Amino acid sequence: EYRRGGYHAVRVGDSFNKGAYVVQSKLGWGHFSTVWLAWDTNHSRYVALKVQKSAQHYTEAAMDEIKILKQIADGDPDDSRCVVKLLDHFKHSGPNGNHVCMVFEFLGDNLLTLIKYTDYHGIPLPMVKEICRHVLVGLDYLHRVLAIIHTDLKPENILLVSTIDPSKNPRKSGVPLVLPATEADDPPPKAPAPSVNGGPTKSQKKKIRRKAKRAATATSEGSGAVASGDTDGSDDRGDLSTANEGSPNQDGDNKGDKGTRRGDVLFDPHSGDNFERDEDHLALMMELLGMMPRKIALGGRYSREFFNRYGDLRHIRRLRFWPLNKVLVDKYRFSERDSNDMADFLVPILDFVPGKRPVAAQLLQHPWLDAGPFHRQPKTLPDPTENSVDVVSEKQRFENQERDA
Ligand code: ADP
Repeated sequence: EYRRGGYHAVRVGDSFNKGAYVVQSKLGWGHFSTVWLAWDTNHSRYVALKVQKSAQHYTEAAMDEIKILKQIADGDPDDSRCVVKLLDHFKHSGPNGNHVCMVFEFLGDNLLTLIKYTDYHGIPLPMVKEICRHVLVGLDYLHRVLAIIHTDLKPENILLVSTIDPSKNPRKSGVPLVLPATEADDPPPKAPAPSVNGGPTKSQKKKIRRKAKRAATATSEGSGAVASGDTDGSDDRGDLSTANEGSPNQDGDNKGDKGTRRGDVLFDPHSGDNFERDEDHLALMMELLGMMPRKIALGGRYSREFFNRYGDLRHIRRLRFWPLNKVLVDKYRFSERDSNDMADFLVPILDFVPGKRPVAAQLLQHPWLDAGPFHRQPKTLPDPTENSVDVVSEKQRFENQERDA
């Protein structure tokens, strides 16, 4: 990747933009870039310097990204919306070509690192709520003020700041939260994490038995029933295959799992003898959330591959319903009350009908988020009921879509 069109080789001590930034250490890397901790000599502060690959395609992508990042920064002058700040950008020419460089405020480790740091035992509930709240503040800002959709929200893309001592730096969002390196960081563990409703003890064995049972009870459709399909052109398959992408991993060892582990992915589908992984994914969703409305089940481009004309799965015929509030009690040992409160927050977000899902502004009003000791209160936008244009239009758009279909 360190060749023409690829990454620029950066070394500690290298300086960028005529001495404005001096590289201190490596922070991370992505498909498009390497990211470095650098000292900003003009402002005497640490920054994150992102050096993009040089090929035309990456340069264009970076220029598009800069346009959006500028809007995001301009709309948040007092740095209270929980979104990362672009501070500067420039081009750097090197042996592999011209690289777009972006300078960001320096933030801490990402959320996946924190989850791994707990060895997938999960993070304390008040911290979960605080992170949820901050993510929602950022999303609400992006949605309502800038009409931007994130599309790639996952633990790796949530960067942490410590809020333990905000007095050290009252104006800024907080100090970067950098965790001590652990062996768990690198290399990534092998087997996927079990899904939340994957079985009461999450043992892989039980899971395999369950799949075998399914395979045994599954009947072949053979009816030639044709789903209505192709109504909205949406690519269900794409949605399904990316839904648990980047999911936290862990090895299959369940020692010490006494129902307290919380770093699980929501759905962890597997293929079976006579059904595909995507069909298993649909089955897991329905086991947690109830049957998918027929209109949704039959309304996708690939509906006919998975559902019969009645909206039942073709190969997985016996679903074992296990709603989230029960999962939280049975498997994660939540109290009835904590479980009901959390399910009340989460289940509507997972609604099969997109128009029924609450928007970020509505979720910010949810009592579940308020119950806990928090370090920092980010600024929320005005009450959505006073300014509900987008909330309504989003619903309206869906209803129109439904009507036209
Ligand atoms: P790409 O867009 O190429 O995938 P990312 O923006 O995801 O790159 O950055 C790669 C990694 O660099 C991140 O996972 C994170 O660990 C680190 N990183 C990115 N931006 C910052 C920042 N502002 N502060 C601290 N670390 C950062």
